[in-house]
Amino acid sequence: MKSQIREQRREKPEIVSSMVDSANKYKARWERLGESMIESLNKGQWPRVMAVGPAIAGGLKHLYGENFGHTGRPGKVFEVTCRWDGTLDAEGLGSVFYGVKHLKIKRMEIWGPDFSTQKTTLEQIRAANIEGFGEVEVRRASTSGNGAAELKTVEAGVLCCSDSRVQAYQIFKGSNVVVVSNAGNILSPVASETFSELVQAGVPILAVLGHSRCGAVGAAIEENNEPMLAEIVRKVRANILMGGTEGRLGKERHNALVEYIMLGRSGDTGESSGAEGMRLQQLITERDVERMAFFLDLSDGKVSDISSRLR
Ligand SMILES: [Zn+2]
Repeated sequence: MKSQIREQRREKPEIVSSMVDSANKYKARWERLGESMIESLNKGQWPRVMAVGPAIAGGLKHLYGENFGHTGRPGKVFEVTCRWDGTLDAEGLGSVFYGVKHLKIKRMEIWGPDFSTQKTTLEQIRAANIEGFGEVEVRRASTSGNGAAELKTVEAGVLCCSDSRVQAYQIFKGSNVVVVSNAGNILSPVASETFSELVQAGVPILAVLGHSRCGAVGAAIEENNEPMLAEIVRKVRANILMGGTEGRLGKERHNALVEYIMLGRSGDTGESSGAEGMRLQQLITERDVERMAFFLDLSDGKVSDISSRLR
């Protein structure tokens, strides 16, 4: 994570306040994008690149630039997290499908520790026969290290939407966060496994970051029935049905909030999170992990700590 990585993990309360603090400051940074850019980001996302790879410090979006000025600007990179062995879960594959079919992304960069894991990822995507994938230019990138070494300095795991407009590393600037991404910020098997690994390595905080204008929530509201989106739609629908009759924004907030609740409660909340989810919940209890949920409103860049009342 270049220069901004901390060499040592701070104490839990310090990390929590630092994450809340930087999230609060994000609105001012967002406003600097200017009205027309913000308006355009609210109309939709048209990312140039889909980055697929394992969960790393800062997330894959971070590898494309730290500054808003150039490649670090929101709206450019759509990110999907796979396992370290290169495999994707149904939610990950669904996210890739969404990026290719719906967002019409024409460039894919596959990250991973080595050639064979990248090959695994590519083969799995190819086998899915996604409409439009033939026109996608695929490149293999690289990720240095195996992730395990840097876990010692990781301060939090963040579950974030693939959406190119949501940049966890910018929102939590100053904290060492590992980012897991899929469309709809769902506690998928990959997310649960990655979070379990982090908790076992002593990472004291796990957070969910939801956002407005989320395509996955939109698909769930419209009851999208494309088979490749089934797992995402099923889970997001279950989350939003648990809320009241609130509008789109309320449903989007609720989707993130239920995922946050699922981190701490076994099986009885929302869609069952499976064996991986149950193992994670156990670890969270054992290690007394702090859970947080944030929500980014793209209309003004405000990031709310939506779990503060529940903590
Ligand atoms: Zn989203």
